[in-house]
Parts: sequence; structure tokens; C-alpha cells
Amino acid sequence: MLKIGIECHVQLLTNSKLFCSCPTRGNEGPNTRICPTCLGYPGAKPVLNKESVYKGIKIALALNCKLPREFYFSRKNYFYNDLVNNYQRTQYEISLAGEGYMDIEARKIRIRRINLEEDPGRLVHSGKDISKASYVLIDYNRAGIPLCEIVTEPDFTTTREVRIFLQRMSIILENYLKVFDSGLEGSLRVDANISTQGARVEIKNITSFKDVEDALNYEIKRQGSNPPEIQETRGWDSEKKGTYLLRTKETEADYGFIIDTDLIKTEITQEMIDEINKEIPELAFNKVNRYIIEYKINKDDAEVIAYDPKFAELFEYCAAKVDPTLVARWLRRDLMRQLNLSKKTIEEINLDKNHVLELMILLQDKKITDNTAKEILIKLIEKSFSPKEYVEKSKLAMTSDVDMVEGICLKVIKENKNAVEDYRKGQEKAFNFLAGKVMSLTRKTADPELVRELLKRLIKK
Ligand SMILES: [Zn+2]
Repeated sequence: MLKIGIECHVQLLTNSKLFCSCPTRGNEGPNTRICPTCLGYPGAKPVLNKESVYKGIKIALALNCKLPREFYFSRKNYFYNDLVNNYQRTQYEISLAGEGYMDIEARKIRIRRINLEEDPGRLVHSGKDISKASYVLIDYNRAGIPLCEIVTEPDFTTTREVRIFLQRMSIILENYLKVFDSGLEGSLRVDANISTQGARVEIKNITSFKDVEDALNYEIKRQGSNPPEIQETRGWDSEKKGTYLLRTKETEADYGFIIDTDLIKTEITQEMIDEINKEIPELAFNKVNRYIIEYKINKDDAEVIAYDPKFAELFEYCAAKVDPTLVARWLRRDLMRQLNLSKKTIEEINLDKNHVLELMILLQDKKITDNTAKEILIKLIEKSFSPKEYVEKSKLAMTSDVDMVEGICLKVIKENKNAVEDYRKGQEKAFNFLAGKVMSLTRKTADPELVRELLKRLIKK
């Protein structure tokens, strides 16, 4: 039976590194964000960064984990030239948190542990082919960057479940908790372990969610009828789309973990937990369930809206006063499409929720046509104004004046004889063309149902 477990390393979005005050971001070039501590100079002492601890605990609470009363760091000993101390500060005996879970569809994926640890430096090889590089440079800007390691139990039974889990985790961490930025280089690394029928195989250092699924599918196929007999660690080549053998036999004991005596134990108090809990908003998946029950909107709309906290806020604000189905349709279909077309995000525009609400009320009360609403929405993305005042001032209110609309229909019929003939022959497209003409002559203010009704009556087949 297929069993998959995941280890995610996400870079915590903090101002300073995990054990020193060097900044975590900047583009002044290699080896510019370094100090004696993150370079491992003798005598330099690490001091734990509070922001990293708070953000780590925030993730733990959002993933329903249990927290210990105190935790400490250990040294994972190994030699590599990007590792300044010959050990990595990580957590081993006591984790920051554990025994959590995330619901995906009808199943629970258990979270085994959440650890804080420091990132090593970054190796820069000359040329494109690592095996032929004539020299290697080391950039220690990354050394000491805070990472949060999230480890699941081997609870996944399909690669699809892994994909859903990772998508959900990224929505929680990035959109809701704002502790992670997927746009930062090196901000995400995933190790996946998989066993089909034979020994466990670990795939290391996958750097995108898409690649995780590809790597797992590749391994399932590769192991096929020939499952591995001994445990092995493999790498993922994202260009060749395949895994390759890194090493066999490697156990945790090989790292000779010892407690880091440079750091004191850190207590997790109830006050800290209460304070952090207050900052955790209702999360996307709870919103989805609530939207379906409370607002009776469909699951697809609920998901798309709830995944973005700004959309969720706007939706809840408008749905308190206007038919939620109408709001969901307009936010999901029209607002999101217009934002996509203008290559902007909802955070980047100055959208006043009262103006969106006014627009929804105008639509619900049939004061404006869908076409007018679309035009107003496009303008609202560019600048802030009151749709209600705009409709009054520009005389864009929907008209159901039968005599006026009939007059325009007759004019359109007279001027478009070919289209009228085509429609009589059964071409529905020709009818839409005529209706469009009438709409544009009324500056899109005519009641579209009235236009269709009048046109059908006036053009007798
Ligand atoms: Zn430093």
C-alpha cells in the first residue's frame, strides 16, 4: 500500500535571522548580511529571535498542534562547506510543537512535529553543470535564516492528497497567517518519503509544490514492480524531471545530536499562547464550510473567495446586506477576472467595500444592467468613487420604458435586414447581434429582458 509523508521547510517571514540581528532580506549582493554569529566565529553567542518563535507557534496553533512548556535547540553535527559551525542548530529531542493535524476533504493528515532551525549558506557553482564547475563560491547571506520544518505522519495514500495538503498549507501560511512569502527565492523546500511495497525512499530538496507531485509520481512509476530493498535517499532533478540516487543507509544517529549549550531553554507561557491565538483569524477552510451552510453559496465559489482573506472580508461585508449568491458570482466571476486582466491584486487597489456594496445593491434592485455594472467595476479598480452617484450623474439607470426601447428596436430591425433574415433562418447568433445593437444604442441601460422580448415580438418568424 502506498504511504507518503512530507517534510516542508518554509522560510519564516521575519526581519532578522534566527540567532542574530542580521536582516533576512535585501539585495546588496553576496555576503552583505552577515556577522560574527552567523559566520560561526569563536566566542560569538547566538540569541534566539522572538519573532521567529511567535511565528512558529502561530503555525503550530493553526495546525492544531500541542505545545510543550519549554523547548531548546540541538546541534545536528555534520561537515559541509556551507555550514559555518560544522553543526546546524535545529530541534531534535523537543520540538516547538507536535501532534497536530490538518483536515483535507474527509481525512485527517497528522502533523508529527514542527521545528525551528537555521538555514545554512548557499553554494554558487561556476557554469551550468555542477559536476563540471571549476570553482564554488559561498554566500552566507542565507546562513541563519529562520526555517520552520513541518513534518507529517506518512498518512497520504495518493499524490493528489499531497497536492491538496500543500496548497492548503500555503494558503494558511501565506494568505492568512502572513508568516511566509512564496515569492522569496529559496523560501520553500520539501522532502517527501514514499514507500510502495519495498523499503522507504526519501526524495530531498524539491523546491516547488508542482515538483512534489511530479517527483512522487515519478518514484511510484520507477519503483513499479521492482520496489527497493534497502532504504535510500534520492535527489530530484526538476529539469530532467527524474530522481537520482544520493546515498543509501543514513540514520538520525549518524548526526550525533547534542543539546546546544550556547542557548538557554525557552518557556512557552499561557500568556504567549493567548496573545498569539488572538492574532489567528478564522482560517480559509472553516470559512468555506461556514459559507456553504450560512450563505448557501456553492463550494467552488466559497473556496475561491475564502482562499484570499481580502476577498473573504469583502464578500462577508456585502453578503450581510445583499443576496450572497449574487455577491459570490460578481466577486468570483467579474471582479477576479478584471483584476487578472489589469494584472493587479486586490491588495494593490484602493477598493472601498462600501462602493462595492452600493454596486451590488444597484444590481439586486435592478437599477442598472449587468453591462453597466461591469463598466463601473472596471472603473472602480482604477479609482474610488460612489457607483450610486455615478449612475445618477451619468444617467445610467436601467430603463424599462417600453415605447423608447421599442422605437430603438424598430430602428435596428430596419437598418440590419441581413441579420434579421439570418435570425428568421434560425441563427441565434444573429439575434444576439441585434440585441447587442439595441443595447449599445441605449448606452447599455435598457432592461436586457425587455429588449429580447420586444425584438422577438417585432421580428415575426
Ligand atoms: Zn548575523
